[in-house]
Amino acid sequence: MPHVHQFAFDTALRCQACIICGQSQGGRQVKIQYKLHSWGAIEVFPVDRSAKSLLIPTDWDFPSLASSWGWEACECGATDGTIDCPHRVADKMIPEAWEFLQEHEGETIYDPGYFTIEEVYE
Ligand SMILES: [Zn+2]
Ligand SMILES: [Zn+2]
Repeated sequence: MPHVHQFAFDTALRCQACIICGQSQGGRQVKIQYKLHSWGAIEVFPVDRSAKSLLIPTDWDFPSLASSWGWEACECGATDGTIDCPHRVADKMIPEAWEFLQEHEGETIYDPGYFTIEEVYE
């Protein structure tokens, strides 16, 4: 079931399993968001530590980024959005991921692994 994971955290802010699906992402309670730049790149950064950021320069990476925020390339689950599946072509899904990202700019999620704890808390 697609959903935004609802992670529980222990007292050291270490990530425990998602209360919906039981999956754990590891890491700690760090919220991240992203910003779209006019030249077509996307910058991902921890919400409270915006000095640190990660540039996603190619549209090839947009489906993966969008899926972190809840986008689903195809409900069949056979594609991550960068390869064709029996139902959809990547040439359609990549622009769709970009549109999704435009609509969800500013929304925060727990970091699924863009940053290490050392990078955020250094
Ligand atoms: Zn979950
Ligand atoms: Zn499909």
